Amino acid sequence: MARQGGGGAQEGNPIGYNMTPKAPGTGRPQPLPPEVPGPVDKISPMQLNYIGNQSIASASGRTLPVIDPSDGLAFDELQRSDAADIDAAVSAARDCFEHTWHKVSAAERGRLLYRLSQKVAEHVDELALLEQRDCGKPVKQARADALALVRYFEFYAGACDKLHGETIPYQDGYSVFTWREPHGVTGHIVPWNYPMQIFGRSVGGALAAGNCCVVKPAEDACLSLIRVAQLAAEAGFPPGALNIVTGLGQEVGEALARHPGIDHISFTGSPRIGTLIQQVAAERHCPVTLELGGKSPQIVFADADLNAAIPVLINAIVQNSGQTCSAGSRVLIEQSIYEPLLERLGHAFESLRVGPAAMDLDLGPLIRQTQQQRVWDFLSDAHVAGIPMVAQGVVVDEAPQAGFYQAPTLLRDVPVDHRLAQDEVFGPVLAAMSFRDEDEAVALANATHFGLVAGIWTENGARQFRMAKRVKSGQVFINNYGAGGGVELPFGGVKSSGYGREKGFEALYGFTTLKTVAVKHG
Ligand code: NAD
Repeated sequence: MARQGGGGAQEGNPIGYNMTPKAPGTGRPQPLPPEVPGPVDKISPMQLNYIGNQSIASASGRTLPVIDPSDGLAFDELQRSDAADIDAAVSAARDCFEHTWHKVSAAERGRLLYRLSQKVAEHVDELALLEQRDCGKPVKQARADALALVRYFEFYAGACDKLHGETIPYQDGYSVFTWREPHGVTGHIVPWNYPMQIFGRSVGGALAAGNCCVVKPAEDACLSLIRVAQLAAEAGFPPGALNIVTGLGQEVGEALARHPGIDHISFTGSPRIGTLIQQVAAERHCPVTLELGGKSPQIVFADADLNAAIPVLINAIVQNSGQTCSAGSRVLIEQSIYEPLLERLGHAFESLRVGPAAMDLDLGPLIRQTQQQRVWDFLSDAHVAGIPMVAQGVVVDEAPQAGFYQAPTLLRDVPVDHRLAQDEVFGPVLAAMSFRDEDEAVALANATHFGLVAGIWTENGARQFRMAKRVKSGQVFINNYGAGGGVELPFGGVKSSGYGREKGFEALYGFTTLKTVAVKHG
């Protein structure tokens, strides 16, 4: 028998949603794949910071445990760094920028990034295994993330020597042109949900533009990034070009954002911490790129190709167990197809299986117990508000009790002002609501303080364009959904989803500053 709903410690679990009996056999577990020899153990027993191409313990000597979300057990240790370690990393980066990196030509930066992409490609299995263990990612997702990292470095390798300035027509007797210059030392604060992907898009762009980087990974997701920095050194990056300092957000993240030697901050994370970063950066007028949260709508009109839409709608909320900033967490359905589409989505949800990362099921565990509790709190509130549940997937019996599991859950008739329709759950919970016409669809889609991604499903070409224009978001997908899309596509939000763009060529403008040079020659 499989367990219904949330797994792990049951305290606080909204059991009201976990009582639907399942047909026998629907929760049949899949066999565990054979044991993979552990590169995880090769770099254990303790992870060190990576500064100036050297593995270095934190100045304080304090450490943090590394927890496997699949079983809730600690299997490694990280450095619990502080301001002194950030100081060392910023010094190494500054030294590299001033004395080495700025002399490296754009073409040579491109070659180094390409060599790094090849190194990552050679280590995809190892990196995927690290994130599988560290973040609870099912094998397929962990591999997809490692392969995306390869693509980020490939893309930015090719972009290095194509970042041009312009000439500007001005008064007679003048020549005016612009240079795109790197900021200098850039700080990167990375969340835990897609460590390799977010590192790739942020650090890849910053290095390509000629900056040196200091990176603070999330405390729950450091292992792969420490390893990538080692690979960068092997690829030939000079000491100080790429530095990793691990630790807690309020200790080491804030020290990075406050450091006067940081010339630009790229922050990806929650809107709450995004506000703190802006306040800290404002004190010294440091430019910031903010990639924050989302409550992205998928809008399904009655003329949509539902066979194409349904698997995409499901994947957009269950990928990475719903811990995706651009998760399609609201499905807005035209009234005439509301009931039949909910029925089909419900069947699909019931077939979803959740289990340990190594089992490579539809979903792995959530990242940590507090995240699991957060999802339970949302579901409890929904239960109290009488929001009906359509269907839930299944947590398999092999899932250890102490792991952080949550069955994917489909809820219907969610009132637009309920927190389930307004706030990020950051878990596999899909909120469905219906609309009568285009105007109501737009009003619902725009009725949150977020604006990251939107999906529009309709075969009507004119409506596709009208909707794409009226929906407030940084990306719009029509008859597909990319959860951020490929590495080439500029990504970022409006409203509380942040500002600035990463990914694609556009990111390079954010990682450079523009200098205008006016020459009077008569
Ligand atoms: P978070 O804001 O808690 O943490 C993000 C990072 O900030 C971590 O590295 C953390 O250690 C650090 N941090 C925490 N407190 C800090 C402080 N006081 N000063 C400086 N740094 C600090 O977010 P999270 O829980 O790790 O990630 C989930 C959030 O990130 C969600 O809101 C999600 O939507 C968002 N996110 C956005 C994108 C995007 O591209 N828009 C991508 C992934 C995640």
